[in-house]
Amino acid sequence: MDRYCVFGHPIAHSRSPWIHARFAQLTSQPIEYTAQLAPLDGFAASVRAFFAQGGRGCNVTVPFKHEAAALVDEASQRVQLCGAANTLIVQADGRIRADNTDGLGLVADIVGNAQQSLTGRRILLLGAGGAAAGVLAALIEQAPAELVVVNRTPERAAALVERHAAFAAQHRQKLTYEVSGVWECLGTFDVVINATASALNASHSAAKPANALIPASVLGADCLVYDLMYGPATAPFLHWVAAHGARTRDGLGMLVEQAAAAFALWRGVRPPTAGVLAELRTIVDAAAPKL
Ligand code: NAP
Repeated sequence: MDRYCVFGHPIAHSRSPWIHARFAQLTSQPIEYTAQLAPLDGFAASVRAFFAQGGRGCNVTVPFKHEAAALVDEASQRVQLCGAANTLIVQADGRIRADNTDGLGLVADIVGNAQQSLTGRRILLLGAGGAAAGVLAALIEQAPAELVVVNRTPERAAALVERHAAFAAQHRQKLTYEVSGVWECLGTFDVVINATASALNASHSAAKPANALIPASVLGADCLVYDLMYGPATAPFLHWVAAHGARTRDGLGMLVEQAAAAFALWRGVRPPTAGVLAELRTIVDAAAPKL
């Protein structure tokens, strides 16, 4: 068995061991994948010990993605752009490479699973933390008509856009950020992507949830609103935008697709995802508290 794991803190909630076990079954790959709690001040030591004991690769989740990008021998362009890694790979020569599959996972779920093209569309990206940074390059590569980043702390949106400015220019993409909070000036969007953690600390009200980060006026006709989060926490926001005519999708498909991209980087085999996503949806729904 080749050994892989996910490092995080906390980590007990992680669905990654289940997802990778299903991928391994479906592709007949001989892997073992576990969840590892790394001490907050001991991530680098935990990773080195895992690889010294024969580990072949790992995923990295909150709060270690930035630290992961800094401790490797080489980093993909995606990692260099966003400064965060969710996948580490031990290469044939023993060097450790970092990659970030969050953006690949998001685009695969929106374009592949939800059948929503991003090309030529106006996209609003909410948030400027690790998740927003991890998906921005992949969104630029889809050649939208325009990509606008809005964040509670505007300076972080400005820094994120600045960091991707040359990459966007290479792709001839219009990438801007909003500082004024004057939503009327922004017009409407075809796709709104919530990459904030607002659902984690929101109070819930069906009428207008505290995590309704946008006014309904930015929702274009047939707009898709995508929340990177999944589960009960994101329900008030998605119900609210649905009540204003938007189509909605949560981040469970992204979770499965970013895992599939990591699995492919490690094993050279792309696992099928549709059945795994359907099964996981059943498990997550069954675990959700009944209202
Ligand atoms: P992070 O680095 O801590 O960034 C948090 C972001 O949310 C920041 O932009 C922050 O704004 C904003 N925010 C937090 N509370 C807010 C509030 N009450 N109102 C408005 N904005 C608020 O976290 P992250 O790593 O980017 O993760 C963001 C979300 O993405 C998490 O919920 C995570 O579970 C999800 N995610 C999902 C997947 C998947 O596979 N589905 C993958 C990665 C992440 P400030 O800059 O102003 O603080």
